[in-house]
Amino acid sequence: MNERPFVFINSAMSADGKISTIERIQVRISDDIDFDRVDDLRAGSDAIIVGIGTVLSDDPSLTVKSDKRQKDRIKRGEDENPIRVVVDSRARTPINSDILKKGKGERILFVSEAAPEEDIKSLSSHAEVLVTGKDEVDLKEMLQKLGRRGVKRVMVEGGATLNWALLAGKLVDELYVYMGYFIMGGNDAPTLVDGEGYKVREEMPELELIDIQKMQRGMVLKWRIR
Ligand code: NAP
Repeated sequence: MNERPFVFINSAMSADGKISTIERIQVRISDDIDFDRVDDLRAGSDAIIVGIGTVLSDDPSLTVKSDKRQKDRIKRGEDENPIRVVVDSRARTPINSDILKKGKGERILFVSEAAPEEDIKSLSSHAEVLVTGKDEVDLKEMLQKLGRRGVKRVMVEGGATLNWALLAGKLVDELYVYMGYFIMGGNDAPTLVDGEGYKVREEMPELELIDIQKMQRGMVLKWRIR
């Protein structure tokens, strides 16, 4: 079965396309209105996915922040937070990470066959651990597994490597980018999409601009992947 959920990436970058500094630590890029927009996107999603790189550097909880949105989800018969998913080949998610500690709701860690058995075992009491892929997580199969559990709408919150792998695998439908009002610079600072990169113009996914929204100090660009 090839059915997969609708997948969108949401990210915030500096005016020069960086999503973090050369130290790869979390920096507040967007403004207050944008925080609210992101919260709304989370509340409207069935699952939120991040890469292990983001968990290790930013320790995000990925919870829905607004009480009203949490209550609306509960009224709809959902958990107050979407399923939080980590793409983590080697089961490196720290047991005390906010994603495992904060807020109610399901957590799923997708690991690969390369993950040490003892780490899978100790994480299993904090989250559901599912194995897919040999050395790294098979992203297509991960999305299919989520789809089979009723997940229809997936929000991807980075980082740069996971964004690349999903785009390169043609597994993304839309891309939303908050473009901020400062310059970060740095050869080694992560950008919206890192990974191997495309060499040939014909291979590069083309985007169709569906919306531009002016925010307090930056703007949000919404793209559809053709
Ligand atoms: P990442 O994209 O969060 O995670 C990448 C890791 O996922 C890989 O290194 C790999 O580690 C694991 N993985 C497992 N299976 C994979 C697969 N099939 N394809 C690709 N990756 C797979 O890490 P990152 O690129 O280092 O990005 C983190 C940076 O992004 C941080 O600096 C963070 O602050 C920033 N960030 C910014 C935003 C923003 O919106 N501004 C949002 C999120 C993150 P294993 O092999 O160990 O599993």
